Amino acid sequence: MRKLDIVEIERIKRETPTVKSIFFDWKEEFKPGQFVMIWIPGLDEIPMAIAREDLEFITVKRRGEATEALHEMGVGEKIGVRGPLGNSYSLKDEPILMVTGGCGGASLIQAVYSAEKEGKRIFCCLGAETEEELLFKERLSEKTDLRIATDDGSAGREGLVTEIASEVMDSEEIGSVVTCGPEIMMKKVVNMARGRDIPVQASLERYMKCGIGICDSCSINGKQVCKDGPIFDGAELKEMDEFGRFERTKEGLLKEI
Ligand SMILES: Cc1cc2nc3c(=O)[nH]c(=O)nc-3n(C[C@H](O)[C@H](O)[C@H](O)COP(=O)(O)OP(=O)(O)OC[C@H]3O[C@@H](n4cnc5c(N)ncnc54)[C@H](O)[C@@H]3O)c2cc1C
Repeated sequence: MRKLDIVEIERIKRETPTVKSIFFDWKEEFKPGQFVMIWIPGLDEIPMAIAREDLEFITVKRRGEATEALHEMGVGEKIGVRGPLGNSYSLKDEPILMVTGGCGGASLIQAVYSAEKEGKRIFCCLGAETEEELLFKERLSEKTDLRIATDDGSAGREGLVTEIASEVMDSEEIGSVVTCGPEIMMKKVVNMARGRDIPVQASLERYMKCGIGICDSCSINGKQVCKDGPIFDGAELKEMDEFGRFERTKEGLLKEI
């Protein structure tokens, strides 16, 4: 089991009205797509994707008690970091098309940094409800061929990110697709890629307690998202009839998405 490191928050960056990045000095080796368990002293421990610029950072969307507590924390306060955990993206087949919405960019940003460093060509389709909720718009536009869709048309195409992703899959010779974001979006992206015989990977989110394959809270069709995932490929996802249909509650019950 990975040890728990206590780190001090060194910098905080507001990314969107509901998302903040929290930077700290951690220095552990990790691969793109891996995650850490973040311990908020006295409250909870939750999974978060890990990334690195000058410092290591997590990017947190405000959702419930634990993420709200992280949003309230300030520079100099301490959190626990346990990891890295889970598997990582395979980024070998280029050009790579990354499709993301919501807070999915938190997991994909490290994949962008790694693929760019290796000189890979990257297309990115980024979606959000409104322009102000587009996560990492500037960083992604510097490093990828970026296409944008918003529900209200305030930036890019008015409509769903899957529509522009479908166009890129048809107009470019895409080597592989990776996706992270709302599960309904990922399900569509996986189906679109599989239908065109393009290798595809999706990073799944399920409620997690231990992060190391003991508690089984994150189970999906017999696989554990924390240990077998969080990234699954098209063939694995095809076998998972819960994907895009059911999640599990904190009590372990199946619930329709
Ligand atoms: C591998 C992995 C990596 C993740 N990386 C990030 C990240 O980089 N940034 C980020 O902001 N979030 C990430 N998440 C999700 C994050 O862990 C949850 O949002 C967080 O645990 C919610 O805790 P909370 O106490 O704030 O909300 P809660 O009070 O626990 O929940 C608030 C609401 O969100 C829903 N919810 C909570 N957790 C999940 C979940 N895992 N899947 C679906 N719905 C959920 C609940 O049903 C509830 O409606 C990741 C999850 C996983 C599994």
